[in-house]
Amino acid sequence: MTAVSFSSVVIPAATVADQLDTLRFRLTGELITSDSIDYDTARTTIFGALARPLAFARVANAEDVVAVVTFAQEHGIPLSVRSGGHSLAWLSVVDGALVVDFTRMKLVMVDPETRTARVQPGATSGDLAGPANAHGLALTTGDTHSVGMGGLVTGGGIGFIVRKYGLAIDNLLSAQVVTAAGEIVTASETEHPDLFWAIRGGGGNAGIVTEFTFQLAPVGQVLGGDLMLPATPEVIRGYLDYVVAAPEDLTTIANLEHAPPAPHVPPDRVGELVLSILLVWTGDLEAGERALAPLRALADPVADAIAPMPYPGIYDFTAFAAEPHNASIRSMFADAISDDAIAAILTAMDTASSPFSLVQLRGLGGAFARVDPDATAFAHRDRNYFVAIIGIWADPEEDRALHEAWTAALWEAIRHEGQGVYVNFLEEEGEARIREAYPEATYTRLARVKAAYDPENLFRHNQNVPPKR
Ligand SMILES: Cc1cc2nc3c(=O)[nH]c(=O)nc-3n(C[C@H](O)[C@H](O)[C@H](O)COP(=O)(O)OP(=O)(O)OC[C@H]3O[C@@H](n4cnc5c(N)ncnc54)[C@H](O)[C@@H]3O)c2cc1C
Repeated sequence: MTAVSFSSVVIPAATVADQLDTLRFRLTGELITSDSIDYDTARTTIFGALARPLAFARVANAEDVVAVVTFAQEHGIPLSVRSGGHSLAWLSVVDGALVVDFTRMKLVMVDPETRTARVQPGATSGDLAGPANAHGLALTTGDTHSVGMGGLVTGGGIGFIVRKYGLAIDNLLSAQVVTAAGEIVTASETEHPDLFWAIRGGGGNAGIVTEFTFQLAPVGQVLGGDLMLPATPEVIRGYLDYVVAAPEDLTTIANLEHAPPAPHVPPDRVGELVLSILLVWTGDLEAGERALAPLRALADPVADAIAPMPYPGIYDFTAFAAEPHNASIRSMFADAISDDAIAAILTAMDTASSPFSLVQLRGLGGAFARVDPDATAFAHRDRNYFVAIIGIWADPEEDRALHEAWTAALWEAIRHEGQGVYVNFLEEEGEARIREAYPEATYTRLARVKAAYDPENLFRHNQNVPPKR
């Protein structure tokens, strides 16, 4: 008889199947095993079907999550957690794991009176943006509609209104969490405050969130879109200088990329190296036009597709990123970006291994920076920039090593200018990089909270901070 090995425990295969059946009957949701018709769909994330988990528990409520956690504890089975399936490190759908799968739990309930929203973790950034906009409200979430709330929020959540309203976690009022002990608790400033601290940036180390309650911002109609400029050193420098000094109503995400064949790009400019500045202005529209003048003055635009729009309209400009793709990523925060780094980035883009690869630059500051670094497990509050080198290719048959080499070469050229990293933009890069995400004091506190809520490190398929008292 074949056997399946789970770390220290070896369970005969027939026993595993029998045991899974007992779990199946305990769930309101469904259990998908390798012989289920849905298995291949379940294991497919935005980066493809990369792993073969033991089974997916498509949970329907918090009680289902308790059943899965208890089952995994009892049988020593590794557990992973999948909300939107966008983990850059492929940590949500893992070989041999029992996956807590939130794809069925994607309810969004907006209360216009209190300007709050209750959101289940399987909802995506786009699932929230639409219903919130119906009431003239918004939350800063992912830059792409498909990014899942479960992973995004537990890591921090840097979105299109971060300079005005902070991170997604800065707008989190409370969360329902299932702990490793199989308890359903509410975490907030007043209930389980340590757990509440840890789930805001701790990346799923402390517990499994089954529902978030957010304060929404009064953001309905915005000035937004894509200001696409030629990618010269002067334009990039001008962009970097302005976007951290601009009024807080302006948040930008700029991609240094080869202009795609999008409707707003003149056909004769497609393929040109450009700085595509995706932006959202949340204030008075006329004041927004004035605030954009310094960016527009940097160069004759390749395309100027800035217009008043409902907030979710900005997702039209990033719809390409929600398509299945392959990626190789290195990222960092930075206080400053030197002329040498800009030159290295431009040279790398000229020799990119894929026409889809890009370097992303985001200006931070504003409300993001006003939160005390100790207030949440996301500590990098005083950094000016977020920089990500993103090698992207469409065909999984392409040579991954070639694209990874491109990312790595540029990373080696600029990483010395980095000051920490965002946990949600880490691949599996080792412990030293996890420590870059969590400065010493944050790391130590996270390890202590982990020891209190997950002493056996059940929740370890994440950017793991092992428990330590
Ligand atoms: C195309 C793309 C665009 C992105 N844009 C942005 C952006 O603009 N801003 C930004 O901040 N990030 C962005 N990200 C990064 C994103 O925040 C992370 O990839 C995040 O983990 C995705 O969450 P998910 O639920 O989709 O992922 P999943 O793969 O489902 O989960 C990732 C990890 O999060 C943890 N997790 C998931 N759900 C829960 C839960 N319910 N409770 C506890 N822990 C949980 C687990 O450790 C899991 O391994 C982007 C990623 C992609 C691929």
